[in-house]
Amino acid sequence: MKIVLENLTKIFPSRNKKSGEEVVAVNNFNFTIPDGQLIGLLGPSGCGKSTTLYMISGLQKPTSGKIFFGEDDVTELSTENRGIGLVFQNYALYPHMTVKQNILFPLQNLKGEDKLSKEAMLERAYEAAKLVQIEELMDRKPSELSGGQQQRVAIARALVKMPRVLLLDEPLSNLDARLRLQTREEIRRIQKETKITTVFVTHDQEEAMSISDMIVVMKLGVVQQIGKPQEVYDSPANLFVAKFLGTPPINVFNGSVKDGKLYIGEDAVLDVPGVADQAVTVGIRPEGFQLDDHGAMKCKPTNVEVMGRDVSVVSTHEASVNPLVRSIINADNKVDLAAGVVRYTLKPHKVFLFNKDTEERILFEVK
Ligand code: ATP
Repeated sequence: MKIVLENLTKIFPSRNKKSGEEVVAVNNFNFTIPDGQLIGLLGPSGCGKSTTLYMISGLQKPTSGKIFFGEDDVTELSTENRGIGLVFQNYALYPHMTVKQNILFPLQNLKGEDKLSKEAMLERAYEAAKLVQIEELMDRKPSELSGGQQQRVAIARALVKMPRVLLLDEPLSNLDARLRLQTREEIRRIQKETKITTVFVTHDQEEAMSISDMIVVMKLGVVQQIGKPQEVYDSPANLFVAKFLGTPPINVFNGSVKDGKLYIGEDAVLDVPGVADQAVTVGIRPEGFQLDDHGAMKCKPTNVEVMGRDVSVVSTHEASVNPLVRSIINADNKVDLAAGVVRYTLKPHKVFLFNKDTEERILFEVK
C-alpha cells in the first residue's frame, strides 16, 4: 500500500494565549511512500516526526493537507478504520492478560463482516506470534517477559489484524543496546516477510540508516532531505543533514575558496573546480582523511583511540568549529604523537562545502 502525504501541515495553537506563538509542528510535508517499503522518519527531538506519524495514523488531524492510502483519501477517516498497526515506545500491553490474550484482543473487537470465528482468531494469533518468534511464550503474562519480548508481543498485536500500514514510534527506545540491535533486525525481517509499508520514527540516525529503504530527515517541522540512507550520507543537501548523519560526526571547519582551491587556515587543501571565490563552511567525514607525510591538511594530534580494525586520531586545528577533529584511519598506520603534527590529504568525495549563510551544499566537480 503506497502512502501519499500531500502538503501535510500541523499547527498547534499557542498554549499561552497572550504570547500567541503557535507551533508549526509539520510544515508542508510532501512525499509518496512506495508500496512495501520501510521508511525511517529521523530528526532531533521536537522536529515533528511523531506528529507526522500520528497524522498518518489518524490520532491527530492535519491542519491542512491530505493523506492517501493507495488511491483512498483517508484524511478524515478515524484511526480504527484506516487499517493500521501501531507500535509505541512503551509497549502498552494489558498486564492482567496473557500474551495470547493480548494478541487476540484487537481481533475480538472486530465487528460485522470482519468478525472472525474463535478458531480463525486463534490461527491468526499464532501466525503473528510465530512471525515474531514468541509462540512458546503465549501463556505468560507481560511481567514475565523481557523488554525485547514485550516489544515483540506489541508488534504481533499490531500485525494480527493484517494492517495495510505499520507505524512504529521509537519502538526500540526502552531496550538496552544489545536488544536494540537484535530487535531492529527483527523488525526489518518481519517487514520484509510481510511486505507491509512501514513508517518508523526514531531520533537515532544509526538505527534509521541500518534498516530503512529510505530516510526522511526533518528539522523544525520541515523536511530537509529524503533518500536512500547511503545516498543521503554521501550527498547531504545541507549542513544540518551532514551533521545529523554519521558516527563519529562530520568535522566542520571555516574555510574559503579562492581560484578553485579550498583553503582551511593558510593551507590549500583541495581542488574545488567551479566554485566561486567565497567564505565557506567545510564538512569533512572522519573517513575522508588520508595520512600523507606531504599532505596539505595539518592538524595537531592529541590522542589515538583504538577502535579495532581502525583507529581514531583525535587532533586540533585552528579553523575547526568544534574543539576536536576526528579522523578514522586503518590501524596498520602509525601516528607519531610526539611529532606534534599529523598531515593528511583529503578524499574529495568525503569533503562537502556549504554556503556560509544558507548552509545549503555547494557542489564541486570531484575528479
Ligand atoms: P520527540 O523525538 O521529542 O518525540 P518529535 O520529533 O516526535 O520529537 P513532535 O512530538 O512531533 O516532535 O513535536 C513537534 C513540535 O510540536 C514540538 O515543538 C512540540 O512541542 C509540538 N507539539 C507536539 N504536540 C503538541 C501538542 N499537543 N500541543 C502543542 N504543541 C505540540
